[in-house]
Amino acid sequence: MSVFKPDLSLKRFSQLDTNELVKRNIRLLLLDFDNTIVPLGSPYLGVKEVRKIRELKEQGIDVVILSNNKRSRIAPFARRLGVEYVPFALKPFLHQYLRILKKKNCRPEETAALGDQLLTDIIGANSLGIFTIYCEPIGTKEEFGTVVLRRFEEIFLKK
Ligand SMILES: [Mg+2]
Repeated sequence: MSVFKPDLSLKRFSQLDTNELVKRNIRLLLLDFDNTIVPLGSPYLGVKEVRKIRELKEQGIDVVILSNNKRSRIAPFARRLGVEYVPFALKPFLHQYLRILKKKNCRPEETAALGDQLLTDIIGANSLGIFTIYCEPIGTKEEFGTVVLRRFEEIFLKK
């Protein structure tokens, strides 16, 4: 199997089938940030992405944002989503993957990694035997039509 080839491909992160992960005994999801759950540079979180993360957590899957971006970019979103995050992850290098798996006491077979870039998000995780999921980047404003204002989204998150 090629390390470039994800185990699963999706159009959007929000289309991820939580039950599929549960069936595979996945209990940890390493989730990319930029263009996977939030368009690059956008201050907004979409309702679908917020819902999906909540659903994953409700089904017992621990979600950790693993991003090569800086702490100041990731932290406010992670806080609002109530998930742990690792900035400056230097994907595809394996150091942070190994550190998280150890910290979570999780084997690669119990772990999934999801992101929009084969060269960072997929290769490293594949080489460890983690279940890899590729999604197309949520890049443009047109594509991100479901975007909501931060204010609304905060109300939604408090529910
Ligand atoms: Mg990305």
